[in-house]
Amino acid sequence: MSIIVQKYGGTSIGTIEKISLVADKIISAKNDGDDVVVVVSAMSGETNRLLDLAKLVDSDVSGRELDVLVSTGEQVTIALLSMTLIKKGFKAISLTGSQAGILTDSVFNKARIDSINNSTIKKYLNDDNIVIVAGFQGMTKDGDITTLGRGGSDTSAVAISVALDAKECQIFTDVDGVYTTDPRLSPGAKKIDNITTEEMLELSSQGSKVLQPRAVEFAGKYDVGIRVLSTFDEGNGTLVNKENDDQMEKAIISGIAFNKDEAQLTIRGVPDQPGIASLILGPIAKHNIDVDMIVQNVGEDGLANFTFTVPRNDFKIAMKSLEKSSIQLKAKKVVGNNKIVKISMVGVGMRTHPGIASKMFAVLADNNINISMISTSEIKISIVTDEINLKNAVNVLHNAFELDK
Ligand code: ASP
Ligand code: MG
Repeated sequence: MSIIVQKYGGTSIGTIEKISLVADKIISAKNDGDDVVVVVSAMSGETNRLLDLAKLVDSDVSGRELDVLVSTGEQVTIALLSMTLIKKGFKAISLTGSQAGILTDSVFNKARIDSINNSTIKKYLNDDNIVIVAGFQGMTKDGDITTLGRGGSDTSAVAISVALDAKECQIFTDVDGVYTTDPRLSPGAKKIDNITTEEMLELSSQGSKVLQPRAVEFAGKYDVGIRVLSTFDEGNGTLVNKENDDQMEKAIISGIAFNKDEAQLTIRGVPDQPGIASLILGPIAKHNIDVDMIVQNVGEDGLANFTFTVPRNDFKIAMKSLEKSSIQLKAKKVVGNNKIVKISMVGVGMRTHPGIASKMFAVLADNNINISMISTSEIKISIVTDEINLKNAVNVLHNAFELDK
């Protein structure tokens, strides 16, 4: 018999009524003849509530005890869902991450799954159970509870799909698929029927919130198909899988993602010499701040300007650190802007169609949208601009590349 893995996010199971609705969907999959394993998140808002409680104790709290706390959200939903299925007359059993055999490394709060021992899940499936597994959590080899980072239930679902060789990993959420861009920003945004894992990984990493990037990475590595579906509407959703012949004839651009969670820092008039980049970025890295885009312009008189972006949360610390370095480097000036946005166009078609970048820049220029940074990869072009340009930029690009067609 083939196995289907379904994952339901917090908004899909936020109330007992919704849990009952989800149970009916699960029952209908079971009645279609598949073995069904379900992965759930905590009820919507619950993980935030738990994190807020912890912050009341210690605003910088992290580590083992935090995982003991935040993993409880999923323990509530597996039990409630399992009870609901039993009440409806089906055999069901709830399993925590550790009971389900999910082994992780010991990096608390953002652990990675090392392996899954599928024997317990298999045993219950063979006994005709619907198996409900807590997402977002696992266990170290020493028996400590770990969690996988925000949005981690997606990764749990994909990993379990791999471990069970499932025919599909269905991610149920409150939208009916992946869109060409955020429909709240662009009314012309369209649902994508089919997208490659590679494109989805770029879209997720660049700001699309539908799937956790790590889940997509996992799916790509082990070649599992993910289908994103709405819990509340019918439809085929969006299938995310490896590139195939269909994709060759597809649109050149699949989607536009954006990320407002960034800030930009510039240090002006530093000596244009070997080692300067590491003198600037070294202290930033020491504060554990991730640097995303980096641009260096060489000016006149052997001086250069150096610009980079960091997560907006880290802006203040990064500015302080850079101001310190600027004294050492005898730089002319340090400037910062935390009201920027990174906009990224993604598509595998870029590989075979030159000129996408220049068209993108021309469209933005025609609309008076100033670009402050650019970065590209084989299937992605990202630009940074002031946040006030966000809506306009996304809309003009969406139209120019005919994503609404
Ligand atoms: N409950 C966790 C979170 O809110 C995991 C998840 O929803 O995927 O991040
Ligand atoms: Mg989620």
